[in-house]
Amino acid sequence: MRLYDTYTRSLVELPAAPALVRMYVCGPTVYARAHIGNARPFVVGMWFRSWLKANGYDATLVHNITDINDKIYDAAPGKSAELAARATEWYLEDTADLGLGMPDYLPKATESVPAIVSFIEELVASGHAYPAGGDVYFRVASFPEYGRLSGQKPDQVEQGEEPSPLKEDPRDFALWKANKPVTEDTWWDSPWGRGRPGWHIECSAMAEEIFGPAFEIHGGGLDLVFPHHENEVAQSRALGHPFAQIWAHNGMLQFTGEKMSKSSGKVETIRDAIDTWGRETILVFFLTASWRKPIDYSEETMTQAAARLETLRNSFTRDPAAHDENGWQAFADALEDDFDTPAALAVLHDWASRGQLELLRRGLAVFGLESLAERAVAPAEIVELAERRLQARAERDFETSDRLRDELAAAGWEMRDRPDGYDLVRI
Ligand SMILES: [Zn+2]
Repeated sequence: MRLYDTYTRSLVELPAAPALVRMYVCGPTVYARAHIGNARPFVVGMWFRSWLKANGYDATLVHNITDINDKIYDAAPGKSAELAARATEWYLEDTADLGLGMPDYLPKATESVPAIVSFIEELVASGHAYPAGGDVYFRVASFPEYGRLSGQKPDQVEQGEEPSPLKEDPRDFALWKANKPVTEDTWWDSPWGRGRPGWHIECSAMAEEIFGPAFEIHGGGLDLVFPHHENEVAQSRALGHPFAQIWAHNGMLQFTGEKMSKSSGKVETIRDAIDTWGRETILVFFLTASWRKPIDYSEETMTQAAARLETLRNSFTRDPAAHDENGWQAFADALEDDFDTPAALAVLHDWASRGQLELLRRGLAVFGLESLAERAVAPAEIVELAERRLQARAERDFETSDRLRDELAAAGWEMRDRPDGYDLVRI
């Protein structure tokens, strides 16, 4: 399997299975219901893990929760811990509802402060960082490879942090920030006084606390290459730790097409997208573009994804053709070549059109879409209950609708809404 690596700007071969593949994918800052764009690194990470495991790898995924951040403190002054806890729950619920399972570890910055502090202490002791006025800064000049990941000349970088007279060099970045009274509910004790960690050191410390000083893949959105990941590389490699071997950056989700009801504030969160389109349409939508490329989220692209979903689903109503023993290879070839999901999706459609239902079911399962095969096998009496419930809801008879939902659940089925009807999913 080959993956594109931002650091070397080339396709890098993964070791052969059953090798260990440890992945760390940067997660969200939790201060509101997560944006649909946050779903992409999650989905890509879960798909990588799913594919690697299906191929005999020992794959582990860590996805962190950034619950120490100014955005949280600004959104809920004095009550930021409550907001962060609630927004973390929302994120876990919303991503769980994508139906892909969950990462192996979901470390929180607030629960990793001792590891972060000892990481900073090592950087200070080795001369790569210096305390100043209660803050601690990374000394960029001490790490000659600085700028390599993002392709910048070390003397031209700008951190985008507020300028500080405490910095020896304007390129230096904060590892520890002294407590300011306005954020009095958000500090921890440290050898440099009360304060809180900077964002970049959180990820270096959380990744290494779980994986140790070396691991295989570091993922996250392309917008994180600089400064976040450049600074993670500097912090960890300054200490001689190999850190990530492959940097896998997913492309950004864009709203360049038709505006998605921006004025109404709808359909921009993962929650709204699931409620509007259903999880399966969202997953098919993400399949339509290479994980590294930008992807347009619009009424049009989502409608197209819904149509493709229907084509795949409807193929299960036909009689299966004789199983093609060699059919799987084209699908595997697509994914082994930099996880080319548009090519893999084309193979799924080819199988659908040829009645290769066993291959199709297996291929869909890699992407958490095995449920597409289930509706056709719902027994007639279950479909009947669902139809009666649909009717009851159309008549706004919610009592009957709720009773029928409970009957369905008791029989082991769940009715999931779609814009043009419903799915029946086994629970
Ligand atoms: Zn991170």
